[in-house]
Amino acid sequence: SLSERLSGVFKRLRGKGKLTEADIKAAMREVRTALLEADVNYKVAKDFIAGVTERAMGQEVMESLTPAQQVIKIVNESLTELMGGNEAARIHIKSKPPTVLMLCGLQGNGKTTHAAKLGKWFLKQGHRPLLVACDIYRPAAIDQLQVVGKQAGVPVFTMGTEKPEIIAKKAIAHAKDYGNDIVILDTAGRLHVDQALMDELGRIKEAVEVDEVLLVVDAMAGQDAVNVAKAFNEAVAVDGIILTKTDGDTRGGAALSVKAVTGKPIKFQGTGEKLDDLEVFHPARMASRILGMGDVLTLIEKAQDLQDEKKAAETAKRMMENKFDMNDMLDQLAQMKKMGGVASLVSMLPGGNKINPDDIDEKVFVHIEAIIHSMTPAEREKPSIINPKRKRRIAAGSGTSVEEVNKLLRQFEMMQKMMKQMKKNPKAFGRRLRGM
Ligand code: GDP
Ligand code: MG
Repeated sequence: SLSERLSGVFKRLRGKGKLTEADIKAAMREVRTALLEADVNYKVAKDFIAGVTERAMGQEVMESLTPAQQVIKIVNESLTELMGGNEAARIHIKSKPPTVLMLCGLQGNGKTTHAAKLGKWFLKQGHRPLLVACDIYRPAAIDQLQVVGKQAGVPVFTMGTEKPEIIAKKAIAHAKDYGNDIVILDTAGRLHVDQALMDELGRIKEAVEVDEVLLVVDAMAGQDAVNVAKAFNEAVAVDGIILTKTDGDTRGGAALSVKAVTGKPIKFQGTGEKLDDLEVFHPARMASRILGMGDVLTLIEKAQDLQDEKKAAETAKRMMENKFDMNDMLDQLAQMKKMGGVASLVSMLPGGNKINPDDIDEKVFVHIEAIIHSMTPAEREKPSIINPKRKRRIAAGSGTSVEEVNKLLRQFEMMQKMMKQMKKNPKAFGRRLRGM
């Protein structure tokens, strides 16, 4: 499955220190294969990979995330965008009732079932929906709508085998008389896309004011579903898609490409045969489901927190043991940068509450990092060995001045002294650390 394949790709990235171009390229080749295997449209997959690659290459290396997590994050975000972004697409309910929804789609894709599901869904929200039987070709179709309408507790308007556009017109008049604020038209389907069907839908649209044409497509049909959606959209201008049978869809290809190909959002998904099995379609949730990792972002955030906590604990331990060196200072700076503005964070530093936040120049911190980076490992561990010659080298290497290097060394000494003091008063020290 797509999720298995992707997690295989991510596993291979695990443990590596930094995300390289070669890593990204290799991972993307596999993501592409996975998408095609999931029956995602070829061009959609191609564009998707191009977008993800570009984002991954331009990405600043986030120290708290492993390469795998970084790729997952980008893939997850891109999948979400592909399926419509963070906002769920809603049905717009008119202030002047009734709002008319026309369900259309191929036979067996779930129109009648979803007319009832939607009816029930709107009923629960305090609306007064009306279902309308516009599928006149099979007597069983009208019966079926009546049965599911009854189950849903939603009234059903029927006129036998009258012309669908006339039924729609009369149903809307009926809705106005009886105070039904949402009218849901259940239309006929065919086994294949054909002109007669499109003409019929067109006649309904001409006869009455349809507010939203909702195309019902079977997710299990994969790329075929997407082709059908494209054809319907070109013939009758669809406003939104109801993706049905997602409970039986293991590949996710239709969910992934239908928005990209038609430009129309998936508004709902059917998740089972029962009338309650209807969900508003959330692209982000679907992306997580496809990745097969539950809420991926939450996972990543947790990993990030854990890592921060672990680092803080390590630093604390080293402080207690008086082993605090320039490397620890660098770590702290990196943590601080991640946590937000420097000014707000200086107060968390030992002794930092004596500093007025307004006096802090964020640039200073960039310089400090540059200076420490220009030190050798030995110098970072034991700054006392930094003699004037070394200072000149460090200043030149970091693009700063010897004065700045001196200043940092003095600050470091001050921090070390404070830590010794705090060691004598562990309680206060602990309190401060927890705030870090
Ligand atoms: P229509 O011809 O488009 O009106 O399709 P129907 O509403 O009659 O549905 C065809 C079949 O698909 C029925 O057996 C439904 O129970 C089934 N069905 C519809 N939606 C779903 C769904 O979301 N999940 C599952 N598992 N079955 C569904
Ligand atoms: Mg039907």
